[in-house]
Amino acid sequence: MGRKAIAIIMDCVFCKIADGTIPSKKVYEDDKMLAFYDIEPAAPVHIVMIPKEHIASVDALSEENSDVIAHIFSKASEIARTVGLKNGYRITTNCGPDGGQTVFHIHFHLMGGKTLGKMA
Ligand code: AMP
Ligand code: ZN
Repeated sequence: MGRKAIAIIMDCVFCKIADGTIPSKKVYEDDKMLAFYDIEPAAPVHIVMIPKEHIASVDALSEENSDVIAHIFSKASEIARTVGLKNGYRITTNCGPDGGQTVFHIHFHLMGGKTLGKMA
């Protein structure tokens, strides 16, 4: 791994949450992923699901590193139940500046707790 890549990871807020350097309100954790409450909720229930491994965004996914994404989705319903989402939820991911991504460590917003509006 190059110096630039190491610097990005050392600076990454979600890598720091994954390694415990920055605290979070965790709802699920295993060896590959973590789910925690979003610090600025955009819905009554707003969870962020991340791989522990640093992957910048959907744009950085490939055949080699994408197994963890299936793993995250395989745990989503269990996480949704844990936080009391009994009537459905929405999972979104923002990619790149035009997609509204602000943290460049791939993550999935799991939101619910009310009827969410239509989305494009
Ligand atoms: P995005 O804008 O799609 O990149 O999403 C990043 C999300 O991370 C936003 O919803 C932020 O509120 C959330 N966030 C940023 N820092 C933290 C933190 N320390 N703990 C929990 N959520 C965070
Ligand atoms: Zn990271």
